[in-house]
Amino acid sequence: MTTPPFDIVSTAEIRVVSAQLGREARGVVGIAARCTCGNPTVVATSPRLPQGTPFPTFYYLTHPAATAEMSRLEADQVMVELTDLLHENDEVQAAYTRAHEAYLVDRAQYGDVPEVDGISAGGMPTRIKCLHALAGHALAAGPGVNPIGDLALERSHWSPARCECDDPGAALREDEATTT
Ligand SMILES: [Zn+2]
Repeated sequence: MTTPPFDIVSTAEIRVVSAQLGREARGVVGIAARCTCGNPTVVATSPRLPQGTPFPTFYYLTHPAATAEMSRLEADQVMVELTDLLHENDEVQAAYTRAHEAYLVDRAQYGDVPEVDGISAGGMPTRIKCLHALAGHALAAGPGVNPIGDLALERSHWSPARCECDDPGAALREDEATTT
């Protein structure tokens, strides 16, 4: 788990992320979380993409097994259940608001983008709209920062501690090849 500042992203890491997404990775400024094998699971993305488009989702979940699990949870009405929890529990609401603020602070280190000013991701701070975004934040920030993302990951059958990558360790292995 990593929040800014990030290490320089390698071409091998970008290649793995592009393979995960099935398209060219754009605007990646850091690897925010990894599988136990070292492959990225969450990337940090510039709040303004290279073509100029504003992009609020700073922490973007890229791992196919993880995104599939979040989609399954969303289809299982988990968002409805977590929304009830959010509205009924003052502590969870307060922590979720702090998560929203932390998200904006992290992203602001990569530039101010007026179009997304005050807008974080996933529905924060008052709604739950995307478990992918909230789990991405939870994986990047570590447990105890994003309460809803933490709960989504607890429900998930995917875990970064158990590798389900198509090509385990590819992000690191190719790095070694290029530096020797
Ligand atoms: Zn892996």
